[in-house]
Amino acid sequence: MPTHITLRMQIGLNQNAEDAGHRIVDLIRTTGADELMFFYFGEELNDGHEPIERVRQWIEHSRVYRKMAAAEGVQISLNPWHTLLHCERGRRLKPGQNWRTLVAPDGQTSPVCVCPLDPRWRDYFDATLRLYAAEDFRVIWIDDDIRLHNHTPLAWSCFCPLHVAEFNRRTGQNATREQIVEHCTAPGEPHPWRERWLDMWDDTQLELIDHWRQIVEARGVRLGLMTSCLENHAAEGRRWEKWWRAMTGDTNKPPVVRPYFWGYNDMPNQAFCQALAFLDEARVSQPPNADNGPEVECYTYGRWNKSFRQIHAQMSAGLMQGATHLNVSLFDFMGNHPDDEPQRAVFLKRSRPTLDWLAETFPMSLRSVGVGCPFSQDVSRRVHAEKSGDWPALVCPFDGWFSWLGAAGQAISRSASEHVNALHGPATWAYSDEELRQWLSRGVLLDAIAAHILIERGFEPLIGLKNGRFVTQAQMRYSFEHCIDERFAIRKGAAVTLNHNARLFQGEPLPAARVVSEVHSPTHETLGHGLVVFENELGGRVATTPWEAHHGTGLMIVQRAVQLAKLLDWLDPQSTRGCVEGQAWVVPQFMTDGKTWRGVVWNVNPDAVAEPMRVRLPRDMPAPRSVTQVDALSNRFNAAYRDGLLTPARPMHQWEYIVLA
Ligand SMILES: [Zn+2]
Repeated sequence: MPTHITLRMQIGLNQNAEDAGHRIVDLIRTTGADELMFFYFGEELNDGHEPIERVRQWIEHSRVYRKMAAAEGVQISLNPWHTLLHCERGRRLKPGQNWRTLVAPDGQTSPVCVCPLDPRWRDYFDATLRLYAAEDFRVIWIDDDIRLHNHTPLAWSCFCPLHVAEFNRRTGQNATREQIVEHCTAPGEPHPWRERWLDMWDDTQLELIDHWRQIVEARGVRLGLMTSCLENHAAEGRRWEKWWRAMTGDTNKPPVVRPYFWGYNDMPNQAFCQALAFLDEARVSQPPNADNGPEVECYTYGRWNKSFRQIHAQMSAGLMQGATHLNVSLFDFMGNHPDDEPQRAVFLKRSRPTLDWLAETFPMSLRSVGVGCPFSQDVSRRVHAEKSGDWPALVCPFDGWFSWLGAAGQAISRSASEHVNALHGPATWAYSDEELRQWLSRGVLLDAIAAHILIERGFEPLIGLKNGRFVTQAQMRYSFEHCIDERFAIRKGAAVTLNHNARLFQGEPLPAARVVSEVHSPTHETLGHGLVVFENELGGRVATTPWEAHHGTGLMIVQRAVQLAKLLDWLDPQSTRGCVEGQAWVVPQFMTDGKTWRGVVWNVNPDAVAEPMRVRLPRDMPAPRSVTQVDALSNRFNAAYRDGLLTPARPMHQWEYIVLA
């Protein structure tokens, strides 16, 4: 199947609709777009919640250009820009909009973003949906402002009297907002109220989605959903299987979903592995048949904001990880003409053959394989808080091993691996004892926080460390890691900086544990253990770092990269996973559905790769039959893979890749 490109755009009420229609027809003919998604009152043209009369104006105005576009054979969908509304930006409720607005944990009230429980706002929003659904749209999109986080100036909501009353009704309590926040964020084992509160949030959101689906499906239109970062949604209590049921009315229809995954601006290479992980989390959370259209957003607009080179990489990455559609923003929302920057249409036209080839080469049955960095939607329900009242701390840091390991040339997956997994940070609370025991019987990499949590949970005998604690540089003047075992280092004596770590984990290694690096002071005193490796009674291999894996990869150096690669060779002695070596920021991906295998080697480094790279395929992957290099202009060249060496056909520049199929 070729891909399906949806162009997202907005034509304001101030524009001549017929003139806009002619420009849209030209754009369809030039780019070969399959669908147009029109926005109403989006971004610069948003003045808060639009009154019904104004909504009617948008609908009527758009009929002219929608009809002209549809006559070209493309599909048409609609994205009204607000449900609750994204953020303030000086906007206010209008006269007659006497709606309850969102309330933060500390009682602060949003001036304009509304509480989803307000019955009068719900009536208003139902009425807008009925108007939209009477038009000829394939999909009506619910934007990702149907969320409870990130409604600036509020970080978290909604703790308004309606929500508090609903919680009390369900639980038979008579709690205040302050008591609820205190109990839900109480340190240690989660208080039972947290689960009940998150269930209440999730259930009441699901009622809305189910109700909205019924409104639009009654007129033959599908409801689509944009999602934000899934770690944030986890702290809203979202359980995705329920969301897909609500989106599809409990049928086997594919849910229509648009995951966020990549920066809106040109992002640094350090963020690349996180973008891949977001896409992978989305696939892990979706049913296999999802109508999966990752968002390729470039706000704010234009070539100064995001390069074509990076947009091409973003679209390619989406298609490699199971996108059936691409929802692409190339044109602005303010009414400027596509012809103002004709290079954008040329870019899309030029890219199309390779995008179609990628869609055919990467069927959505493929799933990523590599070191497992397992995603859990339940993480915020289970995490142990440290400070009462700190609601944002229920969002576990999402960056972690996948960025470190990807940067070190290791393929990762957001599904658990049967062979080797890497656990980091407070997210370790998400996994059950059974899951942990099973993983600890294979190979497991632990960061400082994961090890500390496993000791607290009684896993000392399986990880080889006891009496774990954290120390700061004020308590222990650590400076760098000194490698003492060449099996786990680029060479004996290699140093790796720890100078920027706010704290380190220190435990007491059990007698059978091996300390393979030491923590040193600036004057080369040995202060404690560094990397510790251990073979446990289950036959599993466990490695623990004294440092935390969520601090970003700015501290990556070749000594760390080689240490991690050798460590994974030890944790995964059968070499089940794939990896690559040759240059900084060469990142591999491997996928399979059990029969078909695919690999990708990316260069996300500003330095080009011209020399052969050493690529180790996953154990079960046959040698590729085709090796195709793709450049940023979307040209394809035959590269070569022989005896573990991948040789580019020509220098591979930043944001370019080679596909092994
Ligand atoms: Zn509320």
